[in-house]
Amino acid sequence: MNYDAIIIGAGISGIYQLYRLRQLGMKVRVFEDGSDLGGTWYWNRYPGARFDSESWSYGYSFSEELLKEWDWKEHFSPQPDNLEYLNLVADKFDLRRDMQFDSRVRAAHWDDEASEWTVTLESGQTARARFLFTAIGILSAHTLPNLPGLGSFRGPAHHTARWPHTPVDFTGKRVGIIGTGASAIQAIPEIAKVAKQLIVFQRRPNWAAPLHNAKISKAEMEEIKTRYDEIYARCAGTPGWFIHQPDPRKTFDVPPEEREAFWEKLYGEPGFGIWMANFSDILLDEKANAELSAFIAKKIRSRVKDPKVAEKLIPKNHGFATRRVPLETGYFEAYNRENVLLVDVNETPIERITPNGVRTSEKEHELDILIYATGFDGVTGAFDRIDFRGPGGVKLKDVWMDGPRTYLGQLIDGFPNLLMVLGPHTARGNIPRAIEHSVEWQTGLLRFMRERNYIRVETRPEYVEEWTQIVVKAAERLLSSKVDSWQTGVNRNVEGRTVRRVLGFNGNGVYYRRKTAEVAEGGYREFVFR
Ligand SMILES: Cc1cc2nc3c(=O)[nH]c(=O)nc-3n(C[C@H](O)[C@H](O)[C@H](O)COP(=O)(O)OP(=O)(O)OC[C@H]3O[C@@H](n4cnc5c(N)ncnc54)[C@H](O)[C@@H]3O)c2cc1C
Repeated sequence: MNYDAIIIGAGISGIYQLYRLRQLGMKVRVFEDGSDLGGTWYWNRYPGARFDSESWSYGYSFSEELLKEWDWKEHFSPQPDNLEYLNLVADKFDLRRDMQFDSRVRAAHWDDEASEWTVTLESGQTARARFLFTAIGILSAHTLPNLPGLGSFRGPAHHTARWPHTPVDFTGKRVGIIGTGASAIQAIPEIAKVAKQLIVFQRRPNWAAPLHNAKISKAEMEEIKTRYDEIYARCAGTPGWFIHQPDPRKTFDVPPEEREAFWEKLYGEPGFGIWMANFSDILLDEKANAELSAFIAKKIRSRVKDPKVAEKLIPKNHGFATRRVPLETGYFEAYNRENVLLVDVNETPIERITPNGVRTSEKEHELDILIYATGFDGVTGAFDRIDFRGPGGVKLKDVWMDGPRTYLGQLIDGFPNLLMVLGPHTARGNIPRAIEHSVEWQTGLLRFMRERNYIRVETRPEYVEEWTQIVVKAAERLLSSKVDSWQTGVNRNVEGRTVRRVLGFNGNGVYYRRKTAEVAEGGYREFVFR
């Protein structure tokens, strides 16, 4: 089949890209690996899965009608509600009819003569289109632990990002969970409430801070609805496109008691304030960051009764906020429960998964259910799993061997008519805000081409080099660049993922907005059109 555009992925990015391309009158096909739409909120159904973004700053902003119609029920909305919301959007705008599910894209090859992409699915089905949009997610390529015996466990074993659609009953069960990243931090307190025993296998602890979630009453939601313009304007004016604005003061310019009181206040408030509304130097200055880390460590010690367990839960190899900060609800208190055991796999390494459970160097832990909370091959993982080839058969994987190279995170030189929604090296933060920005910018580019009868766009290498340097420079300043995490492309469960790379634009979102707007206003001089 021939289309004007193919979109890979039916998450928040793919849904919105489809909506905008339809408005341009394009014939579009969306191919989605899952059996339905929703992306992150389709796949991640583990107990406790929810946003850390304020719900009312996370939803789409493009439709007044949608904003009026949808009521968020909680300030940090849980997965089932998020999925319901995305289904409502798809149904309201009749988007489903252009989506094809259970359709994993295996390859995308450029045909230079026809100026078209040929997309091949795992099933062998092929489709062609002039434009190809990737909407494949930065956290969609899940990874299993690299352990011997994987698959030998007799009971149910689930990755948090491939969770069953029917509820998993933990009542009276012995449950093991491998990993203590953001998903585990959400799931552990929930599972601990019902399991007979929960054994947490931890390799490296993560810093976490309280979410302070709350229900939204009908009256409160009505009031929020009157403020949407203000909320989105605020997000557009912050570095991370959240509602949180950094405090311009520097940590040591503030007297110790005042500093402590400020941190107490942030720790007691909902959302990412402790990370994003903190002093302006906490992500840049090691001493400032160490002071804040000591404050958070003190909090962990006060919340975990057993001092030995508390010490194990306090990260020693990176400072607070130098990795994406998971927000939690009763995570640390879960370890005060009789039925929760923390196993530090640095002390007693996992030797293998067995039919009965997990064997460490100390003993075999017998389990009824095993959970892999081992995360994702972040940002470029979903790209690496597709065989993208540009003119002359050049493989994207080879071009990005040492790290992604893009212009504005939107296009790649040598890969015509390939547009990335939320691609590597774009600004991210509060992700739907970044997605809307990206989709709208790309729609503008397509409109520009259409008005001039252009059929092919490619970015110039010198601008790719310029943007790559800007991205690398912005990252160099940050303490987070010196830390292994999915954000720096390190994942010890994936072969070859041991060297840090710069995967996102960590400069200011306000700068990114201005820069992209200038390119559009300047008539896209950074591109070659045909
Ligand atoms: C547990 C969790 C919590 C999160 N919380 C927040 C939060 O609080 N705030 C925030 O801003 N962001 C959060 N995120 C990030 C989240 O991914 C984004 O907010 C948003 O959902 C991204 O939407 P997307 O459409 O770009 O990607 P996704 O939702 O990941 O969708 C990508 C889709 O592409 C499909 N796909 C990938 N490869 C292929 C292929 N080869 N063929 C066919 N289909 C393919 C996938 O199946 C998937 O459905 C969270 C992520 C996770 C995992």
